[in-house]
Amino acid sequence: MHDTLGEARGFRRATFAYLLALALIAGVAVVTHLVIDAIVERQADTARVVNVAGRQRMLSQRIASLAEQLAEPGATHPGATTEQDLRDAIALMSQSHAALHFALPAPGVSGLFAGPMRDHAAERFQLDLRVSGYLDLARRYLQMDPATRRGSALLGALLAQAREPVLSELDAAVSRYQADSEAAIARLRVVLAVMLAVMLGTLVVEALLIFRPLFHRLRAAQRRLIEAALTDPLTGCHNRRYLMEMAAHEVERARRLDQPLTVLMLDIDRFKTINDTWGHANGDRAIVAFAAAAAEGIRGSDLFGRLGGEEFALILPGTDRAGAETAAEKLRARIAAERVALPDGELRMTVSVGVAALRADEAAIGPAFDRADQALYAAKEGGRNRVESWRPEFAAAARHSAVVVTLAEAG
Ligand code: GH3
Ligand code: MG
Ligand code: MG
Repeated sequence: MHDTLGEARGFRRATFAYLLALALIAGVAVVTHLVIDAIVERQADTARVVNVAGRQRMLSQRIASLAEQLAEPGATHPGATTEQDLRDAIALMSQSHAALHFALPAPGVSGLFAGPMRDHAAERFQLDLRVSGYLDLARRYLQMDPATRRGSALLGALLAQAREPVLSELDAAVSRYQADSEAAIARLRVVLAVMLAVMLGTLVVEALLIFRPLFHRLRAAQRRLIEAALTDPLTGCHNRRYLMEMAAHEVERARRLDQPLTVLMLDIDRFKTINDTWGHANGDRAIVAFAAAAAEGIRGSDLFGRLGGEEFALILPGTDRAGAETAAEKLRARIAAERVALPDGELRMTVSVGVAALRADEAAIGPAFDRADQALYAAKEGGRNRVESWRPEFAAAARHSAVVVTLAEAG
């Protein structure tokens, strides 16, 4: 007997494991998304820093060059615009300098996943001093008497700083950010590779440990269901549904190949008496013994099954009426010879058989079954434990008995 409850528990466990694996994959996907998001944010910050630093570089050189222009003789008067340009450049560089500080990435998710950004506090302080000092020089230079600018120490200091420390420290700041950003990308690649491995690993484990067994169990369960749907639970032989489905195929084939096909209807004689004499449980044993004995005597291509109660049918593809009569007679004799050993003695039984052949103009098995049933009725009428092959007069008798039944019911 199959353990249906255990199987249901197994399915529940497999479903749970499947959901767990799905949750794991979903979790890994979310973490991967957060990591990528953090790195993209970090990259945007780096791009901003590099951008601002480039601007600072350009502005520092512009300030130096404007300061030099202002020192030219004759530049003092019309130089009002050059002075304004220098003032603007100083203001812009001062603003950019403030922006450079804002652009530093804030700690948080970004720091968590992209790796902590090194602070470079000392270098920042140095750069801060350098830029502030440079801007201070430039502002002081602007306030000088224009006549004294040329050749002044202030101009010299301004030009000297613009050439070396300001430029090189801005460059250094840019390369620090770029190095940090490259390190973050390298970490991202490692993190992503690990995530991918976890996801693929989970999928493989899921496929091997959950899907494969689940699939096999489902297939086995489906096979059992189909088998149960087509099998008679008492005798283990085919049931009416299977017989009818197979009969449809056999009729189709018989017509296609132009081969004969015959039907046998079998009904155990006086089964009510058997039940009454031996009890219902022993009646069941008799039905099981009948099915086993009948199944033993038939060919592999024949279709045998229980229609219900103590009624059975046998479909004989490729067998004509004469062959079917012989087979029916053999079956009848075999059943008559059968002894069912019971605790209280030996049960014996007989069977009546009706035989009918499929007609050339028939595309379904139904009419042949009806005729076999009429022949079976005739076999019962004729004294039981016998085989009757359908004859046209059986149809009239069946109509007559139907009329009698109707009249009896009416009156
Ligand atoms: P006949 O020779 O005319 O066939 O007589 P019968 O007594 O066999 O008559 P009928 O076919 O009408 O009755 C069949 C009886 O079989 C009726 C029912 O109580 C009994 N029966 C039907 N199915 C089962 C079953 O699964 N197990 C048992 N033990 N008895 C069944
Ligand atoms: Mg019956
Ligand atoms: Mg019967």
